Order: sequence, then structure tokens, then C-alpha cells
Amino acid sequence: MHELSLARAIVAEVSQAASDRDIASVAVIEVKIGELCGVIADSLAFAFEFVAGGTALEGAVLEFSESPVTMWCESCEAVVQPEVRLVFSCPRCQAPCPGLRSGTEIEIVRFSSASREVAEAIN
Ligand SMILES: [Zn+2]
Repeated sequence: MHELSLARAIVAEVSQAASDRDIASVAVIEVKIGELCGVIADSLAFAFEFVAGGTALEGAVLEFSESPVTMWCESCEAVVQPEVRLVFSCPRCQAPCPGLRSGTEIEIVRFSSASREVAEAIN
């Protein structure tokens, strides 16, 4: 179960970051999910709720944003987005673009404490 291990990783990372900053209770965690990750946000939220129980993250809400696929086109020397899903060629010049720039990552963007006064970026 991909989402369960992912939820564990998020809880571990944010718990550590919160404890480093003396934050006793985390309310909101923003997570960016790449379009190609194959992660189902609802499943991740469910797994997170389960894993976060009894930690500083208990009751915290995950807010998701999707990171679209972007890639580098050498001919155009530009970052482009595929026109058709899973067809990795440049929409301008049709050259194949093997190097994906984004869309495969999962990233904790930031989290905030229960008081909502603190918003901390981890990265
Ligand atoms: Zn191009």
C-alpha cells in the first residue's frame, strides 16, 4: 500500500520539523502531488488520519495541490507541458523530451500550527 508508507513518511518528517520548532500541534499540511505519482489523495488522507493518531499531527488536515507534468525541450530551449497526457513530446516542435522537470514528485510544501499563526516551509 503506497499511500500508507507515504503517510508514515509525511508524519515522520512533519513531526520532526514541528518538534524542532516547538510546535505542539499541527493543523494543516500542504502536500504537492505530481500528476504522474499515481497517488490517490483520498487514500492518502485516510492513511494519514490513521498514522497521525496519537502524534502532534493528530486531527491535522492535508491540503493537496497537483503538480503538472513539465519537461525540458532542447530544441525550443524552454520548459513545456505535454499536450497529450503521457506523450512526452514538445507541443511546439514535436521533439521528444525525455527529461521530466516536474510531475513525478511528492513534496511537503508547508505546514501550520493549530494557532494558524505559524506557517513553516520545510524545504
Ligand atoms: Zn520544442
